[in-house]
Amino acid sequence: MSGPKVLLPGATLGVMGGGQLGRMFVHAAQRMGYFTAVLDPDESSPAGRVSHHHVRADYLDEIGLATLCGHAQAITTEFENVPADALARLAQHRDVAPGAAAVAIAQDRALEKAHFVRCGVDCAPHAVVTNEEEVASVDDDLLPGILKTARLGYDGKGQARVRTRAELRAAWEQLGRADCVLEKLLPLAFECSVVVARGHDGAMVHLPVQRNLHREGILAVTEVHEGCIPDAQAHRAIAAARRIADGLDYVGVLCVEFFGLEDGSLVVNEMAPRPHNSGHWSMDAADVSQFELQVRTLAGLPLVQPRQHSAAVMLNLLGDLWFARGAAEATPDWAGVLALPGAHLHLYGKLSARKGRKMGHLTLTGPTPAAARETALAAARQLG
Ligand code: ADP
Ligand code: MG
Repeated sequence: MSGPKVLLPGATLGVMGGGQLGRMFVHAAQRMGYFTAVLDPDESSPAGRVSHHHVRADYLDEIGLATLCGHAQAITTEFENVPADALARLAQHRDVAPGAAAVAIAQDRALEKAHFVRCGVDCAPHAVVTNEEEVASVDDDLLPGILKTARLGYDGKGQARVRTRAELRAAWEQLGRADCVLEKLLPLAFECSVVVARGHDGAMVHLPVQRNLHREGILAVTEVHEGCIPDAQAHRAIAAARRIADGLDYVGVLCVEFFGLEDGSLVVNEMAPRPHNSGHWSMDAADVSQFELQVRTLAGLPLVQPRQHSAAVMLNLLGDLWFARGAAEATPDWAGVLALPGAHLHLYGKLSARKGRKMGHLTLTGPTPAAARETALAAARQLG
């Protein structure tokens, strides 16, 4: 970054990637009076379709990057696998947040774990495996474990659970002998995450700790309310997320995921250098959303601590729901869901549903955790 330049509404903010996270960033920026530019190769990308400018180009395309710089005064990213090199190139001409160095660390599980260790935050016992010798010599104590590709994994993809050395060997072959991290399988009591936003000047704010439930490696439900995880672990998670962001000299929104273990300890799992699915509730139940925080960090505006005003449960809407009532694709019963007080529907404008595809989410808010939960159960019943 070239310094704490403030971009006021009326300026144009750019984003690399046109998925749902980019779309919600665009909505937040436009609401505040900014113009927006999205770079994404897909003509029908969710963010491209709602942005003032859509640059249809590959992430490393020279002309595309130059065009984005022509539109936008500052540029962020919404998609973890936008090449860090593309961000480095943009940074020669424009303010870019988060920076390429931080994104490069978050894109590689081995570098990411090394960063956690450097920050003094506990993570799962693990070993980096990049060749046959390393596969053969992993510590017995890491089995049973989860083998994860170092790069390009998401939503549980690029992972295999392995119990024995033979399974480890076979899984590594199956993953194409890619550079991997083998992690010990831990006894999880719960999963949680913290969204922090850090400005050019190092000022930092955060959303409350979010409790997450995954199904088949994909986030299914997030709950956020007083007591959703034990206080001691909540405080530790927030302190750790802040240390991790400081250690990267991070500018932007960062989400850090944690495992709460059965023995009361807390270990960090991974981080995402952008807003995160588990922070979506903040659009409906906090006075400042994670996407507004992203706008503020990028534009160099003041950061204020978000205040949660309602208990919230977020349900992800996967493409499977479109096939719930038979073989043919059919739209779920939104009217039934929207009849519930406190139901907030977000659909990402994707043109077709596929099983496992994130099509949207629902936030159910209420005056108490029990009320929000009750509404979430009613919504889930409506959706069948
Ligand atoms: P992704 O990048 O696909 O989100 P994660 O590393 O977060 O990958 O793993 C996906 C899910 O798998 C986690 O949310 C958790 O439920 C489970 N998981 C991952 N690592 C471990 C572990 N070491 N022990 C137990 N469960 C794990
Ligand atoms: Mg994860």
